[in-house]
Amino acid sequence: MSCLLMRESPMIIALNKEKTVYDGFITVLEKDFRIRISLPPDHQMKQAKLHCCWQMKRLLHGYQHIVKQHMSPADRINDSHYELVYYQEVALKSQPGCQSFSPPQYYSQLITEMEILGWDKLLFIDAEFRTLKLKAEDSAGRQHAIAVKLKSKYPTEAPEFSADLPVPLVIMWTSQSTLANVHSQFLLNVEALSEFWSVLDEIDEQTWVLEPEKPTKADSMRRIAIGNNVSIKVQIDPRHPKMLPECCLLGAEHVVTPLRNKLNANMHLWNPDCSVLQNMKDVLEIEFPSPTTHEKSSFSVECGICYSYRLESAIPDQVCNDPRCGQPFHQVCLYEWLRGLPTSRQSFSIVFGECPYCSKVIVNLITKTQQTHN
Ligand SMILES: [Zn+2]
Ligand SMILES: [Zn+2]
Repeated sequence: MSCLLMRESPMIIALNKEKTVYDGFITVLEKDFRIRISLPPDHQMKQAKLHCCWQMKRLLHGYQHIVKQHMSPADRINDSHYELVYYQEVALKSQPGCQSFSPPQYYSQLITEMEILGWDKLLFIDAEFRTLKLKAEDSAGRQHAIAVKLKSKYPTEAPEFSADLPVPLVIMWTSQSTLANVHSQFLLNVEALSEFWSVLDEIDEQTWVLEPEKPTKADSMRRIAIGNNVSIKVQIDPRHPKMLPECCLLGAEHVVTPLRNKLNANMHLWNPDCSVLQNMKDVLEIEFPSPTTHEKSSFSVECGICYSYRLESAIPDQVCNDPRCGQPFHQVCLYEWLRGLPTSRQSFSIVFGECPYCSKVIVNLITKTQQTHN
């Protein structure tokens, strides 16, 4: 094997006297790739191990015949096992049933484009070389990712793009476009949302956000704790993040009503030059409990019927309106409870019954799904 390898591929040399480790470069499609072959002491190719970069693996996967021209010594060294096992090894990563290889230009184009963009921008690439994820950092240092799904006629056929954004991603594609071009367009998309994310970052850092549990970059809603069983749901407009957001106060009526009155009376004070959090404090005339002042457990009070906080993804959003009780419940739990009471009454979309804790009258709005099911 040794002489043949060196004759056929002068850039590959044996690293040891026993000639069991070979290292060097192989030229495929006018590109050089590092390769290392380790043989067991008996030189049995069956146990040979091939080490190479994944770009190389992919090229070998589709173009074994090209490699063969460079490296196949088998029919001359009288060991039928040699090249057979070698190429089985090479083809090891081939997906069974995957017959559709793209033309060589597809891969060479892709590798050239990644070299121009910088391999450090590549977060992920699948074994088929079809889907890649590129990372981008915005001017505030936030990390973002764009998924690019390439078609077999790339770059003639436009790829599909997706990213975690609260608005549709806009990437203009022409046959001259490249990955570097896509990357810079993606950066424009995220920079345009910079103010939106800074509004949310401030809320996430300085308040207790009850929902969503783990906000993604696409989430524009936050349910913020105001006090025990009182919270406000705000829906930030990604395009106008500092304008008065859609607000919904949640909690017992005796707590929510005064807050709602403040909100209505002070709405005109909303100042788009200030942050949303600052405006909410001014308009509601409150301080939000923050991680520096409160434990989160004081707001994540469990449901009084199922005794858990999360029921599937729902958190308790109903509460007994009696000021001395104030027990929170999941909407579903409260509905099931009230419906099971012999004394409960139903009128249109409202069920009346007694609170399981204080026996005061409690009402529950029936959701649309419950109305259709019952
Ligand atoms: Zn419950
Ligand atoms: Zn009660």
